[in-house]
Amino acid sequence: MPDSTFDPTRRRLLGAAAATFLLSVSKLGFAGSSQVVAIRIWPASSYTRITLEASDAIKFRQFTISNPDRLVIDLEGVQLNSVLKDISSQIADADPYIKTARAGQFSPDTVRLVLELKTDVKPQAFTLNPVAEYKHRLVIDLYPSSGAQDDPLMALLDDYNKGKLTEPPPQVKPKKNDSNRPIVVMLDPGHGGEDPGAIGMNGTREKDIVLRIGKQLKRMIDAERNMKAFMTREEDIFIPLGVRVAKARKLNADLFISIHADAAPNRSARGSSVFALSEKGASSAFAKTMAQSENSSDLIGGVKIASKDKFLAHTLLDLTQTATINDSLKLGKIMLGKVGSLNKLHSAQVEQAGFAVLKAPDIPSILVETAFISNPEEEQRLLDSDFQQQMAGSILSGVKTYFTQGAALAARA
Ligand SMILES: [Zn+2]
Repeated sequence: MPDSTFDPTRRRLLGAAAATFLLSVSKLGFAGSSQVVAIRIWPASSYTRITLEASDAIKFRQFTISNPDRLVIDLEGVQLNSVLKDISSQIADADPYIKTARAGQFSPDTVRLVLELKTDVKPQAFTLNPVAEYKHRLVIDLYPSSGAQDDPLMALLDDYNKGKLTEPPPQVKPKKNDSNRPIVVMLDPGHGGEDPGAIGMNGTREKDIVLRIGKQLKRMIDAERNMKAFMTREEDIFIPLGVRVAKARKLNADLFISIHADAAPNRSARGSSVFALSEKGASSAFAKTMAQSENSSDLIGGVKIASKDKFLAHTLLDLTQTATINDSLKLGKIMLGKVGSLNKLHSAQVEQAGFAVLKAPDIPSILVETAFISNPEEEQRLLDSDFQQQMAGSILSGVKTYFTQGAALAARA
């Protein structure tokens, strides 16, 4: 029997629990049939995500059972197939939240997934419509139900999912010139998890390269006196754009640097570029396309709240934002000089467009496109650990120059 763990005793137990639960849910109508074509599991310390990808929208219901902790997900209009049966092989021993998983045909048109949990979790399940390469997705995120305060990112994800981050930003505090305090740099390796970013001709994924550069850069920054780096992600995990910004603000970051290696339709396109937020319109068609591509990360990576985020969409008319963009441009210009001594520049000026990830109102923020992963030569360079290290070194050098110049200006004032 392929699914020996799905024994009748357990089934009766679950059945009883389900019956209790069903009293409180409305009867779902007849669900059409949907074929599950892929299951992907993204274990990470902040949260573990399970993605079921299917030919058609999946109707589902979920409930938890304790003693031991289990999460049960019923998939309606679904037949058990090899993809579903194979779910157990996808659970990593190191998964912080899932111990085991199994799937069984619960009724003629319902497949039941049972996840045995290592700890009490707060599950969040939602569906996503087809986007980019993906068909219909059912996403189940498992957050720890306790200890949120230990992990600021977790708390932010939680707030984000509850819609708490949709409030306008608080009044911006005055710039701190406390010399005892280290300069805090928030590094943001782009993409991650369900969102691979751009993919090179040889299959190199942007999300992997930028994470390596980011980690390298963090090591370099942390080795500096009076500097400290944090990362929006340190694993192969999807973090919504708004959470990346919120994390930087929560940690009072002095700078925000988003690291990318995107693609261009023209494979001969090459070179590094640096972007800042724009108050009005994009500085070029190239910048506009890049911002559209980056901003689609939430759709591809998959966020529960797809509605307009007021915090990110707020009108950029206040003076703080203007001053912040001016600082971002200053930093961007320095960065172009540094990166330009390592790689050709795609654009000799700091390009500007409406990048959602650069919208912290009070933190100078830039997005560095290290190279084009779509260019076969640059794809090879991006894979080279020496190049990754040199790129990290160039960015560090840019940050240091920015603060050196800033300090000189402040002393003269
Ligand atoms: Zn990117």
